[in-house]
Amino acid sequence: MSEERKHSILAPSSKEWVHCGFSAKFLANKEEETNDASEFGTECHALAEAYIKQSLKIEDFDEKPVSIDELKSTFKHYDDEMETLATGYANFVIGQADYEEKRTGKKPLVFVEQLLEMDYAPDTHGTADAIIIAGDTLTIIDNKTGFIPVKIFEGNELNSQLGIYGLYAYKLFADIYPIKKIRLVIYQERIHNIDDQTIDVEDLLEWEVSVLRPAAKEAQNPNAEAVSGKWCKYCPGRNVCRQRSEDALSIDVEKKPELMTDDEIEELLPRLDFIIDYCTSIKEYALKKAIEGKKWKGYVLSETSTKRKISDEEAVKKILKDAGFNPEVTKLMSISDLQKMVGKTKFNDLVGDYIIKPKGQPVLAPESDAKNNNTEDKQ
Ligand code: SF4
Repeated sequence: MSEERKHSILAPSSKEWVHCGFSAKFLANKEEETNDASEFGTECHALAEAYIKQSLKIEDFDEKPVSIDELKSTFKHYDDEMETLATGYANFVIGQADYEEKRTGKKPLVFVEQLLEMDYAPDTHGTADAIIIAGDTLTIIDNKTGFIPVKIFEGNELNSQLGIYGLYAYKLFADIYPIKKIRLVIYQERIHNIDDQTIDVEDLLEWEVSVLRPAAKEAQNPNAEAVSGKWCKYCPGRNVCRQRSEDALSIDVEKKPELMTDDEIEELLPRLDFIIDYCTSIKEYALKKAIEGKKWKGYVLSETSTKRKISDEEAVKKILKDAGFNPEVTKLMSISDLQKMVGKTKFNDLVGDYIIKPKGQPVLAPESDAKNNNTEDKQ
């Protein structure tokens, strides 16, 4: 793993500051949050790094060699899922290196967990999960362990984190290798999402000038404006930001006597997600504070209603049977357990006609989400 350094304020994971310069004020005061999910992600990356280095025989001269078993023994969250995620990603990177070797007829250069220095803001750096250089193409592979599908482009908008990694990996190697194309890849084993886009170096350099540098400049401006949007959910100031609150809660529907038109409803729909997102986030924040001891006027901390549960089924069964009752109902096993027991093919031959899939409830989703979900299905 790369050496520990203080977190950069305008780090490459830039969803909020690239859109809203004001968020840099919150990012500057952000305390390094470690939770189970982030620790799991860090350990999963370290395990994958070890598998890739072992398979491709990449030596790390700066660090004392540690066996994979020794490494796992230092983890807090190692489990089967981490093994699946780490090996899935490691195999993908190894497969890509193999593919590049076949494509170019030469062994590609592979860098894992490569530290990249960035110059769009002071003391800024990041770690690229994997970089492969082969012929005129530099490939960046970003390993995501979350559940939300991540894309290289949202419409025409380049994912700024991948853009920054691609740009600064290019700058690191441009003097040595004849790189003309940057291939950006998101790999999400957990939800079987792979997004893979290649862009010309000229287009990435144009993006640097037209998007990245102006955004970084604005984020370093002491009077930067707050601009709210769907990126607010990544901002550490999301629960206390006045701009977000005002924008979420003000709906400019003119008071007219007639009914709202379809056009007005269409205009309102995309804003509803923003409002719901805001309300959910404020409720979560208020609850967290209440659990910590904060008293909100007019509210008390209570518990949701729950279903009654039997604490010891065997004991209850015995007592009722001894009292002359038959408390057991014979129930068919679940479809997946039945399938496991009988075997998929035989199960389908025997009872396939009886397995139905009820139609889901209709939901209205933004077109971009529906496209993302369809893409996910195909992968
Ligand atoms: S919550 Fe949204 S509007 Fe407010 S600072 Fe953060 S990104 Fe900007």
